[in-house]
Amino acid sequence: TKLKVAVLFGGVSTEHEISLVSAKSIMQNMDKEKYEIIPIGITKEGKWLLYTGKIEDLDSKWTQFSIECFISPDRTKKALVKIKDNEATFIDIDVIFPVLHGLNGEDGTVQGLLELSDIPYVGCGVLSSAICMDKAFAKKLALLEGIPQGHFLVVYKNEYSAKKDYFIRRIESEFSYPVFVKPANSGSSVGISKAKDREDLVLAIHEAFLYDTKILIEQAINAREIECAVLGNDEVFVSEPGEIIPSREFYSYEAKYIDNSSELIIPARLPKEVTEEIKDLAVRIYKIFECCGMARVDFFVDKDTNKVYFNEVNTIPGFTNISMYPKLMEFSGISYSQLIDKLISLAIEKNEQKK
Ligand code: ATP
Ligand code: MG
Ligand code: MG
Ligand code: MG
Repeated sequence: TKLKVAVLFGGVSTEHEISLVSAKSIMQNMDKEKYEIIPIGITKEGKWLLYTGKIEDLDSKWTQFSIECFISPDRTKKALVKIKDNEATFIDIDVIFPVLHGLNGEDGTVQGLLELSDIPYVGCGVLSSAICMDKAFAKKLALLEGIPQGHFLVVYKNEYSAKKDYFIRRIESEFSYPVFVKPANSGSSVGISKAKDREDLVLAIHEAFLYDTKILIEQAINAREIECAVLGNDEVFVSEPGEIIPSREFYSYEAKYIDNSSELIIPARLPKEVTEEIKDLAVRIYKIFECCGMARVDFFVDKDTNKVYFNEVNTIPGFTNISMYPKLMEFSGISYSQLIDKLISLAIEKNEQKK
């Protein structure tokens, strides 16, 4: 019998559209002999819908082919509840693959519901997802663990509003321009800017606060962007590092999804000892953040000195067949569909360990 795998996509997130692309790719590459796919979309408003259209047709109009549903938090059911003509039907589910990027999906919220349901799910748990999504907590934990990273400052909206001049002065004394300003919870570079002077800084802070009540100021590092793919629960596998050459001044939303001309270089051309340092750090970071299933651990490597800095962990990284995570795995000999198989078996293994 086939394993019933519910794939969650969309979501109440600035990365809703990106999720559709990742999910479509995953569903197209799932072995139809092994799996029965149950595609579940979450609209931008937060409505859960069972997608009844063709996977090839999954695009921004997917809601037209859908019926209301939700995952039951009732762990005695382990099911999806489908509602049609005011009648509820339960559909048993074996595994859930959340392919949701950003808030309300990659941040532990959906993982909380899935924990309640007791249905095995792909990827990191509640705590780990939440910490990796919140760059302020992630950086504070990394600091405590002695992980190398650039200087940063966390600023809360209410405090900033009350003492703007104080914060601007403080930032200018602690950092030198350029600095990066980012919402604490962000993804796909939404709300992130590089500020070269005070005028930029004030605008960048304003912009970041449109997305979150907590932001980070970071020293800009003149660096190459290096990413590592990590896979596993207790035993972890780390890929060779890959490099991103952004098509813009930094790896912005436009550089990621609009230009189509940012480049991925696999493996990254780095001295052997730097490669080893990055791979070791990626595993250490994965364990510190208690990740399981998968995560993409991202670094900066100083262009002049090759010094390695931790940037962030993405627990549900971009997953199209040209995305860095699957590409790095492919380079390591794990094909896209083997990767999906592995993630599903890791999800089942993790759920069984809890018993
Ligand atoms: P993702 O889409 O990978 O989840 P994100 O939205 O979580 O990204 P970051 O990775 O923190 O955001 O930052 C986005 C991009 O901004 C980086 O890939 C890099 O190009 C640039 N950047 C961010 N912080 C710095 C920094 N301190 N120094 C130099 N460049 C930076
Ligand atoms: Mg991120
Ligand atoms: Mg991300
Ligand atoms: Mg990033």
